[in-house]
Amino acid sequence: MINFTVGPVQSSDAVRAIGAEQVPYFRTAEFSELMLENERLVKKFAHSTDDSNVVFLTCSGSGGMETAIMNCLTKEDKALVINGGSFGERFVELLELHEIPFTEIKLKQGKALKPEQLSPYEGKGYTAFLLQKHETSTGVHYDINMVSDFCKRNGCFLIVDTISTFLSDSFDMAALDVGVMITGSQKALACPPGIAVMVLAPSALERIWKTKCSCQYFDLKLALKNQERGQTPWTPAVGVLRQINVRLKEIDESGGDKAEVERTARLAQYFRNKLKEYNLPFEIFSESLSNAVTPLHPTTQSAFEIFLKIKDEYGMWVCPNGGDMKNTVFRVGHIGYLTEKDYDQLIAAFVDLRDKHFI
Ligand SMILES: *Cc1c(COP(=O)(O)O)cnc(C)c1O
Repeated sequence: MINFTVGPVQSSDAVRAIGAEQVPYFRTAEFSELMLENERLVKKFAHSTDDSNVVFLTCSGSGGMETAIMNCLTKEDKALVINGGSFGERFVELLELHEIPFTEIKLKQGKALKPEQLSPYEGKGYTAFLLQKHETSTGVHYDINMVSDFCKRNGCFLIVDTISTFLSDSFDMAALDVGVMITGSQKALACPPGIAVMVLAPSALERIWKTKCSCQYFDLKLALKNQERGQTPWTPAVGVLRQINVRLKEIDESGGDKAEVERTARLAQYFRNKLKEYNLPFEIFSESLSNAVTPLHPTTQSAFEIFLKIKDEYGMWVCPNGGDMKNTVFRVGHIGYLTEKDYDQLIAAFVDLRDKHFI
């Protein structure tokens, strides 16, 4: 199988080799050192300020989203949230559940965020802003500079879900004045699922220390105290954290986040050029693309049928969409351990399906 989904994605051989080893005991100086190295490298690649902190939570990315809300926001806040797809919708549901006052900016699927959609909220007393930098469900990459400028002007605390865009598209946490950045182990980090990573700027730390978190397991005060010495309050996904360590060092040795973003951009461009070259019956669904994924609207066949056919007859996974986009959109990912040759195989399968009049 070749996996072109957007998570879990394919891992390097070195990362996979760790998965075959016994899981070690972790209340040791060696594991603490590894965790502190993970923190240092995540900060380096996120371009956070030196006085930011990183925590590693044992949960998927959504756990990181909920943790950010439970620890950084209160009923005294007034939040703005961008909802352009299923992950934006998740932030909306979480704000409702935790009773944080908010206004939702709902976007049409596949559409970019425009300045005129933010301008009505200028100077209206908003204190927080939440969005996905890349709404993975529709493949829309928002203009984070525009959002960051809005937040700086309006004094909004900015929570950014970078789960699929960290290491795929450039990101500078300090320059953007982001309070919380969230990512997960199974997207561009290309490790198995199980760990959510959060980078917390001093503005977030200030909120965390004065906010009562009504969930013990995801109380960031406990996570932060433990991470000071490279530990976690509870048994973490030790094996995944060791895989993350190998992966972060691989990236560091091959040129850091910049080189990794460029590598992903080259793969995405290679695939997009091939789509045009072969004139395949797919339209690009998003107005504003990330390097992480190409969302496609097939014009001659159901997207879900294409996903099934590619899986069952060609041994490859493209990423199906759910809900009302099930039949209209599928996605091809560019994150994880993939090469141009892999895309040649996928394009050959599409061409074959066209020759057989399936698409
Ligand atoms: C994958 C993803 C998530 C989290 O999904 P989990 O299944 O909880 O890991 C959240 N936001 C975005 C933008 C994602 O791509």
